[in-house]
Amino acid sequence: MTRFAHIPAEITDVLPDGRLFVGGEWEEGTGAPITSVYPHDGSENMVLNGASRADGERAIARARAAQADPAWRNMAPHDRARLLHAIADGIEANKDRIARLQSRDTGKTLTETGALAASACATFRYFAAVCETADEALTTRRAGALTASVHEPIGVVAAITPWNSPIASDAQKVAPALAAGNAVIVKPSSWSPLVSLELARIAEAAGLPRGLLSVLPGAGAEIGDLLVDHPDIGRVAFTGGTSTGRSLAAKAGAKLMPVSLELGGKSPTIVFDDADLDLAVAGVLFGIFSSTGQSCIAGSRLFVQDGIRAAFIDRLVRATRALTVGAPTDPATQVAPMIRARHRDGVEAHIARAIAEGGQILTGGTRPDAPDLARGYYLNPTIIAGLPNTAETCREEIFGPVLSVLPFSDEDEVIALANDNEYGLACGIWTRDFPRAWRVGAAIRAGTVWINTYKAFSISTPFGGDGASGMGREKGRDGLRVWQRQKGLYVDMTGAPHPWARLEQDA
Ligand code: NAD
Repeated sequence: MTRFAHIPAEITDVLPDGRLFVGGEWEEGTGAPITSVYPHDGSENMVLNGASRADGERAIARARAAQADPAWRNMAPHDRARLLHAIADGIEANKDRIARLQSRDTGKTLTETGALAASACATFRYFAAVCETADEALTTRRAGALTASVHEPIGVVAAITPWNSPIASDAQKVAPALAAGNAVIVKPSSWSPLVSLELARIAEAAGLPRGLLSVLPGAGAEIGDLLVDHPDIGRVAFTGGTSTGRSLAAKAGAKLMPVSLELGGKSPTIVFDDADLDLAVAGVLFGIFSSTGQSCIAGSRLFVQDGIRAAFIDRLVRATRALTVGAPTDPATQVAPMIRARHRDGVEAHIARAIAEGGQILTGGTRPDAPDLARGYYLNPTIIAGLPNTAETCREEIFGPVLSVLPFSDEDEVIALANDNEYGLACGIWTRDFPRAWRVGAAIRAGTVWINTYKAFSISTPFGGDGASGMGREKGRDGLRVWQRQKGLYVDMTGAPHPWARLEQDA
């Protein structure tokens, strides 16, 4: 059951046809319907059938066969790299199409979705290069054997991704998993099902052998559970919320299956009184309000040193009020709609609780009053002061455009405050004192630390979280190895039977 809604002509050309990519075959899903919604005005983009467990079982069986095919299993790394480059070429050629589709599906600005498409392309190229250049190693000889460490594919693996940056999250998992020689099943979020299907179309056109990639939008409780529980799935890389990640890790633990978890965050941003304030204001704004705060790495707890606090916050509030809240298609837009009404309701409930906790709203906390935004899921960027670090607002991930500001007086105090949170994803430090930046950066428990910048990304630099922000790393050269099994290999070089057996020698 695929239904296209009343959509403007300029995007009908980018919508997929509603079929799922089930082990290399385009098939109607047989699961519950999924509705793709345009968050700017709440209109339906299309309705498609999600995947059922039966669809998932078929995809896994086809993936197993495709992965075991000697044509893939024995393919030399440089030939796998060639396929990854072909997928990257396809993403590049369809960059505009991907940007429009993802913007329509998630409400992100076209500027941002264009950047995400470029990032996905770079990810495939990077892992093509890693795949072609990842050496195996002879290990140091200790006895009469030649010894080596070699890496082999895991087999059939799965990628479970959230709605906030789907093409980039998918690429970060699919590219290294294919580079490593696996077959991959992608389960995108039901709130953003479309762009992963476009990635499947591109991979198919690039010549990826049939069955190596599946894209199965569907309910987390159904398809997600199937992938985690299934005996033929050898690894799951998950990006999403901490509570989902915890339950997934428990099931994976029972199955003794490796998982990586990229989860939520409540990242601190620290502005010292010697910081370049122009850089700091711009960086703090970008860190929290880009992507409308719907970003795992959003810098949502701002610590400002006493000497500059009043002046800095005053400037930040004025700059926040000047941000452009608007339609995803408008190049001037800085703050676009949130993904769903339900999600915005949740963020507004957080703001209400912040007020109940004694928080003071310095700006925002309301919906924009422009009539052309009235049907969309918009929320003005919000700054809250007056709450301690122990308040719910300062502890829990809100995943929206909400910033808490907190005071601090010295380095030791701010390190203790920043680390006093269960999450450990990212941190921003703004100071001109480099030794201090280095000291504080080293003392903060976070997978990524940015000094005088924020949300800067490179595919060659590892990414991941600690504590409630997850475990494992993606990206970087080691990002290939997590998708492989390491094997120790011994080749006897003596030609002599083992003396323990005391074999009689022939006369
Ligand atoms: P979510 O946990 O609700 O869903 C993530 C994915 O898991 C979806 O595809 C969902 O369908 C699936 N899922 C749901 N229940 C499942 C189950 N029982 N078994 C298996 N899969 C299941 O998260 P979301 O709302 O889509 O995304 C927002 C969250 O993702 C935020 O907490 C954000 O911080 C986090 N996130 C983290 C990173 C990172 O790299 N650390 C990046 C982006 C988003």
